[in-house]
Amino acid sequence: MLRSALLAASRSPQVRTVVEKFPPTHAIVERFVAGELLDDAVTACDDLVATGRKVTLDHLGEDTKDAAQAAGTAEAYEHLLAALKDTGLAANAEVSVKLSAVGQFLPVDGEKIALENARRICAAAADAGTTVTLDMEDHTTTDSTLSIARELRADFPWLGVVLQAYLRRTEADCKEFASAGSRVRLCKGAYKEPESVAFQGKRDVDLAYVRALKVLMSGDGYPMIASHDPNMIKIAGQLAEWNGRKADSFEYQMLFGIRPEEQLRLAEAGNAMRVYLPYGQEWYGYFMRRLAERPANLTFFLRAMATRG
Ligand SMILES: Cc1cc2nc3c(=O)[nH]c(=O)nc-3n(C[C@H](O)[C@H](O)[C@H](O)COP(=O)(O)OP(=O)(O)OC[C@H]3O[C@@H](n4cnc5c(N)ncnc54)[C@H](O)[C@@H]3O)c2cc1C
Repeated sequence: MLRSALLAASRSPQVRTVVEKFPPTHAIVERFVAGELLDDAVTACDDLVATGRKVTLDHLGEDTKDAAQAAGTAEAYEHLLAALKDTGLAANAEVSVKLSAVGQFLPVDGEKIALENARRICAAAADAGTTVTLDMEDHTTTDSTLSIARELRADFPWLGVVLQAYLRRTEADCKEFASAGSRVRLCKGAYKEPESVAFQGKRDVDLAYVRALKVLMSGDGYPMIASHDPNMIKIAGQLAEWNGRKADSFEYQMLFGIRPEEQLRLAEAGNAMRVYLPYGQEWYGYFMRRLAERPANLTFFLRAMATRG
């Protein structure tokens, strides 16, 4: 119930205005977001890399409303990738892109615009010597996102895709994408989805995650295990061992600000550990999804509102 309400609020302009204008929000947002500016992102990225972690940077934004805004987002990524190249961080940092931020939902030629903007970002990543991963949004975008990914992979075979274990289709998608060199990020899924397309309870989602992980770990691709769940991390380690995978043939991924000690433990144990680092002004939707994932985050937020409000 609470999760559904928060996910619904993540798309509500009215709630957005209230949450964004409330001063204590910003102190809490800082736990999950590097800051609003490119410099904030580069500084936070540098700090993470200095501790042996890798990074994927997300220029926050989603549900872009016009073509100029979509092109502006592509340009922001080009600046980011140039900065990663100039600072030498590109060896350990890539970018994550939401296709809705680069135009996928625009009513006229949305997919075409998103494809062209994503192509610009991939070209800038190739120039910087790094990679791009396409984030996955709600299930109405899955076919479109995977079809854009297939098209981009013809020119940029290193392009990563995200598959969401809670979707009933994902085990089959894993079979398609577990091919040689294919970078696949497996997450549980963060959106409110109907039962017709997605498993609902934690146990069913966890079981689906493990089934998908088995396909990816026994395939020829490069699995990216995006989870903070201790059970999923343990099972991923066992599957890597059973499938004779070396430490450089898969990686763990976690969100900035969540389980940092576990991130460091995995990195210090010799694993590739990548942190998803968002930055920018459009933090609202991302922040609300983080609140929805964990009631304790919401309690913390409400307590701050009560004491500082
Ligand atoms: C690198 C990365 C990229 C992602 N990309 C996408 C994407 O493209 N599309 C998409 O739909 N989803 C994405 N997600 C989000 C993902 O789908 C889940 O919603 C999120 O990771 C929580 O699931 P979990 O696997 O951590 O397990 P859960 O069962 O939700 O959590 C396990 C434990 O992790 C900790 N934890 C989890 N979430 C939080 C939180 N918000 N705050 C504090 N502690 C927490 C808690 O200790 C919790 O008990 C991504 C996640 C990661 C790590």
